[in-house]
Amino acid sequence: MPRITEIKVPDIGDFDDIEIIEVAVAAGDRVQMEQGLITLESDKATMDVPSPAAGVVKTMAVSVGDRVSEGSLILTLEASEESTDQQAASETVAESEIETAPASSQDAPRELPADPAPSALASADADVVAEVVVIGAGPGGYTAAFRAADLGRKTVLIERYASLGGVCLNVGCIPSKALLHTAEVINGAADMAAHGVDFGKPRITLAKLAAWKDSIVGQLTKGLAALAKQRKVQVLQGVATFVSPHMLEVKGADGVLRVAFEHAIIAAGSQATQIPSFPNDDPRLMDSTDALVLEEVPKRLLVIGGGIIGLEMATVYQALGSRVTVVELLAELMPGCDRDLVRPLAKRIGKLYQAIYLGTRVTGIDAQKKGLKVHFEGAKAPASEIFEGVLVAVGRRPNGHRLGADAAGVAVDEAGFISVDSQQRTNVAHIFAIGDITGQPMLAHKATHEGKVAAEVASGKKSHFDALAIPSVAYTDPEVAWTGVTESEAKKQGLDFDKATFPWAASGRSLGMGRSEGLTKLLFDKASGRLIGAGIVGPHAGDLISEATLALEMGADAADIALTIHPHPTLSETVNFAAEMVEGTITDLYLPRRK
Ligand SMILES: Cc1cc2nc3c(=O)[nH]c(=O)nc-3n(C[C@H](O)[C@H](O)[C@H](O)COP(=O)(O)OP(=O)(O)OC[C@H]3O[C@@H](n4cnc5c(N)ncnc54)[C@H](O)[C@@H]3O)c2cc1C
Repeated sequence: MPRITEIKVPDIGDFDDIEIIEVAVAAGDRVQMEQGLITLESDKATMDVPSPAAGVVKTMAVSVGDRVSEGSLILTLEASEESTDQQAASETVAESEIETAPASSQDAPRELPADPAPSALASADADVVAEVVVIGAGPGGYTAAFRAADLGRKTVLIERYASLGGVCLNVGCIPSKALLHTAEVINGAADMAAHGVDFGKPRITLAKLAAWKDSIVGQLTKGLAALAKQRKVQVLQGVATFVSPHMLEVKGADGVLRVAFEHAIIAAGSQATQIPSFPNDDPRLMDSTDALVLEEVPKRLLVIGGGIIGLEMATVYQALGSRVTVVELLAELMPGCDRDLVRPLAKRIGKLYQAIYLGTRVTGIDAQKKGLKVHFEGAKAPASEIFEGVLVAVGRRPNGHRLGADAAGVAVDEAGFISVDSQQRTNVAHIFAIGDITGQPMLAHKATHEGKVAAEVASGKKSHFDALAIPSVAYTDPEVAWTGVTESEAKKQGLDFDKATFPWAASGRSLGMGRSEGLTKLLFDKASGRLIGAGIVGPHAGDLISEATLALEMGADAADIALTIHPHPTLSETVNFAAEMVEGTITDLYLPRRK
């Protein structure tokens, strides 16, 4: 028999007299169990109040703008017997039981069970209790922790190293870009000799350069520690492993702490892939972390891997004086990027580097006294050669198998990735995953964006990861950047698109910089006219790609970009000019009439 139930505001922690900012149902509506009824917002947090039962709303007791506290009546519900049975059954589920849904990377959010009650955690045998615990303090993890704290959650951030910031700040984006700036200045100064300004050969004090790079890292990571403190995020140093769906153990220098949590966000990142048969203990064999230490500059450096990280490090070491050779297993540098964008880079480094071997495999490395003897295989493979240094940059693998994820019921695939839905939820309702550990592209800005989504969802908001494009940048010389769909992907997908490529040889600014090899390419969907992809190669392409990404997100078409006045003379004009080429309005180049 149906019965009328009063639905009241449940225990919502320390909050009292909170404003209702949204009412999601009205009298007569049928609601499902756990469906959001109203949204409350305090100065610290926004939270949805879900329905504890399924049924039909009989009367509403609140409206937007009302202020409520625990126990305030929201509505009356005619709940069915089935619903009340379900409710009773769900209340008897043991705390240690977890409900799982099959993991997948689907776009739609999963139907998942309700969050655990905070009261369940208070009774747990724990040293620390968190509403949100974040594992890993890389760009994904610290962003998630800070956002959750800003939304009023009691947040704990666990990091194995003393320094916050993860790979990106400590041994990735930041130190590599500081050194790439150095390379840009060295190469730029050398290029000026052709224009009558000869600075001579640079005198490099490696220890000073390394100290400068370290000081930038230190400045940023100390800044993060201060930001955590300001937000009252509790930082625990140690290695976290799950011991149950609501408990982590953190092994640190002072022993083991048990951390009970309502929600966990896994942001444990990735690490450089090693090739087990190589002499990995030999200091002359480096991964990107070793190479960024900048202990010495090998006379001859072999970079194994022609992807972004390998080519960026090659740029640094070539500028510092190494004779660089690059070997890539595939037939092309930077696989995944359009060939026309890679070509100007390949041409420039083809002249600067000792050799670039494509379609070539390194079959072995022998550590010898005078260097590392490297053996190659492939149609155009060279004979074995000796290098003073070898950098292995063959990719990164996720840390999914190092977390005891099984104990929490979190599914991890063979490679170590954790699959998530569009709200960053794993197959376990209250556990989220973000950043490198969730899959490609392994980029810091993807991690931070995902971190915000996870923190917001864990704090009761209805956020989703719904970005249309994640830009990629190789900070090589020239830089290569792309966003949205690539041309090769668009062709593979059979998309009907218009393309325009503006050569930088027609850009006054580019010529004034002594660099004319760049190009800017825009792809527009034929049916809607909207920008669907962009690629840029040339100095500062990494900064220029943001305009294209914004245009894509805003649904801009060629006219929007072409009619936007860009300052002259700038490299940004090349985006404007490419759009004018699609429009047929370009005057800085001659095009046969199209429109
Ligand atoms: C040389 C190099 C250059 C790069 N340059 C760029 C760039 O220019 N732009 C860009 O977007 N990306 C760049 N990246 C990639 C970028 O660094 C990563 O995408 C980004 O750091 C991923 O962030 P994350 O939060 O997922 O994880 P990470 O930064 O990997 O952080 C994960 C953290 O979790 C900690 N951790 C792991 N397991 C545990 C555990 N069990 N307990 C406690 N702590 C744990 C780790 O110590 C680490 O600090 C670069 C990477 C490298 C290697």
